[in-house]
Amino acid sequence: MLKAINPATGKTVQTYETYSGKGVEKIINSVDKSWHKWRSASFAKRADIMQNISSLLKSKKEELALLMAVEMGKVIKEGIAEIEKCAWVCDYYASNAESFLENENISTEAKLSYVSYQPLGTILAVMPWNFPFWQVFRFLAPTLMAGNTAVLKHASNVPGCALAIEEIVREAGLPDNVFRTLLIGSNQVENVIRHHAIKGVSLTGSTPAGKSVASIAGSELKKCVLELGGSDPYIILEDANLGEAAVKCAAGRLLNAGQSCIGAKRFIVLDEVYAHFLEHFTHEMNEGIFGDPTDEEVTMGPLARTELRDELHQQVVDSVVKGAEVILGGEIPHRKGAYYPPTILENVKPGMPAYDEELFGPVASVIRVKDENEAIKIANDTVFGLGAAVFTKDIKRGNKIAEEKLDAGCCFVNDFVKSDPRLPFGGIKESGFGRELSVHGIKEFMNVKTVLVK
Ligand code: NAP
Repeated sequence: MLKAINPATGKTVQTYETYSGKGVEKIINSVDKSWHKWRSASFAKRADIMQNISSLLKSKKEELALLMAVEMGKVIKEGIAEIEKCAWVCDYYASNAESFLENENISTEAKLSYVSYQPLGTILAVMPWNFPFWQVFRFLAPTLMAGNTAVLKHASNVPGCALAIEEIVREAGLPDNVFRTLLIGSNQVENVIRHHAIKGVSLTGSTPAGKSVASIAGSELKKCVLELGGSDPYIILEDANLGEAAVKCAAGRLLNAGQSCIGAKRFIVLDEVYAHFLEHFTHEMNEGIFGDPTDEEVTMGPLARTELRDELHQQVVDSVVKGAEVILGGEIPHRKGAYYPPTILENVKPGMPAYDEELFGPVASVIRVKDENEAIKIANDTVFGLGAAVFTKDIKRGNKIAEEKLDAGCCFVNDFVKSDPRLPFGGIKESGFGRELSVHGIKEFMNVKTVLVK
């Protein structure tokens, strides 16, 4: 049984029966059957459907934002922006997939030799709850445009979103069984991966889930793309515009109530501007309106589930026991729901959860350093490697640090890290491997086929 619980009230929104093993098997077989037709549909036909999906998303953005608010606590304004971004990624691949997948001629001694990108078949997506529509559409738009079919195992706390996605693509005219949602628990994922029709897996989620899925996929020699956790470092150099940096850093930390893989998590500040930055940053972290996510004025809602809020608080408490200092927030509010306030921890050191682990909520770890070299060393002193940012007025200096010094998949200068359909997205180290979005994302689940004619 899957249960959607409103994190603002603790009340059950709806319960759903999970699909049986036999039911799942039947769906995967139907999706596999549909692949044989879908792979030969023209790009123009696929693009038409993708544009219908985009239009439907735009026309339903308010109701979908409300669904996210009641299932996982996202505030309405962010929910609407998320749906608009999903529409964008559908339009983007509708316009670009064909050119991204054009044959590439390579000159050899043969009459003709070239690379052709051919779809693999049915791909399993295992997705998280934090951006319930965006995580799915950034996978689904390139996957469908490439001629693959897909099944989705969404996070157990957002079954309504999972079914809404299936309904939208059906209403947009996607042929039957080209995409299906599977309402299953994580214990049913192994059998899906091992099904002969599943040709690859894309998982976005935590590092432990990624390791488990990758080992099963590896044992079946099936390719996977893993978008996992992060502990993104933001370096504030002595020549940064501190007011602007503080605005971006707070926005990067508080977006989605801090529940973002590419959330700004560790703030590494040079000694000479430390006090000044912290003053601006504390002000910005305290600026929002905190409360009921369905209230359109509210800028930060509850976390998605009470136990996740409690785990986050435990990480704060354990860090404080080891010497961190709370300078903002840090207490569970006396109110119903999975709320946690914007929090800043100072004196964060190795050995503390706030330094070593991912904090998946609105908690900022601030670290003071003497110079640029120490800042880079601490930025890279993590098992993760998803995003990173550097703030400086010297663009050349920032560029060099971003390009050559920071060990992460997405490095930004003077902005917080965000995904964009046009730019590759993904991490290194325990943040995963493979890329989504852009020309790189659409090629992940393709047979890069060599054709040679003598
Ligand atoms: P999660 O617990 O790993 O769950 C993600 C998905 O994996 C859910 O569908 C979950 O199903 C499933 N799952 C969990 N354990 C599994 C297992 N052993 N085998 C198969 N499937 C399994 O992560 P979450 O709490 O939903 O999301 C938060 C995490 O995702 C954070 O670490 C965050 O950084 C990461 N994330 C990364 C990105 C990125 O692009 N790099 C984006 C967003 C989030 P159930 O819900 O049924 O358990």
